[in-house]
Amino acid sequence: MTDLMPAIFFGHGNPMNAISKNVYSEGWTSIGKSVPRPKAVLSVSAHWYIQSCSVTANLAPRTIHDFGGFPRELYNMKYPAPGSPELARRIKGLLAPLSVNLDESWGLDHGTWSVLTHVFPEADIPVVQLSIDMTKSPMFHYQVGNKLAALREEGILVIGSGNLVHNLSAYAWGESGIHPFDWALRFETKVRELLLKGEDSQIIDYERLGPDAMLSVPTPEHYLPLLYVLGLRRKDDKVSFPVQGVDGGSVSMLAVQIG
Ligand code: ZN
Repeated sequence: MTDLMPAIFFGHGNPMNAISKNVYSEGWTSIGKSVPRPKAVLSVSAHWYIQSCSVTANLAPRTIHDFGGFPRELYNMKYPAPGSPELARRIKGLLAPLSVNLDESWGLDHGTWSVLTHVFPEADIPVVQLSIDMTKSPMFHYQVGNKLAALREEGILVIGSGNLVHNLSAYAWGESGIHPFDWALRFETKVRELLLKGEDSQIIDYERLGPDAMLSVPTPEHYLPLLYVLGLRRKDDKVSFPVQGVDGGSVSMLAVQIG
């Protein structure tokens, strides 16, 4: 019998975390050592935010360097994990009758590999990405998570990669020791409380959480991966926060583990 896999939302933050040894990347390494070894990983990344529901179906997904202005070392990074067309087809089946595009053009973007390079550094576990359909409501993304719940019994580790608070116009690039903005801390604290209480509907309707939510989630793509993970939760799952912190004042690095 396969262990029931947890589901994990990672706050990925600055792409430099891929090549940095810090409290966040070390936390991701510890997570990789603590979870059962998955048969494959399904990643929902903030950086594949498109007008369709697509899943990568290539045998050898490329490493995508979807950022600008970073050191050469980061562009040289590769995360050569295999893909899994079989898992892509399984996901399409679970989501039917929703139309899911089997995609061979995308690969692994930095939302996925900047984290997985620490979680599973051997890059020997197949990885598939699922896009976030930007035309759909927050509830849709949560319900897609619901429909994928069976994957946890099949040895598949589902991860979301984004940031609970992600305001780059307020972000202090490259500066350390910046005190988090009050609104960032308040919003993160609020969502943590809602997660612990199981108040999913308020987390889905985050736009109703007031001005702190508007500042913390100025655009939805980094928040929505959390809703997929939340959708995979079972009633008796515990919730934990294995990585914590706010980077540059306005990017929450909180990781949320379900189960
Ligand atoms: Zn990002």
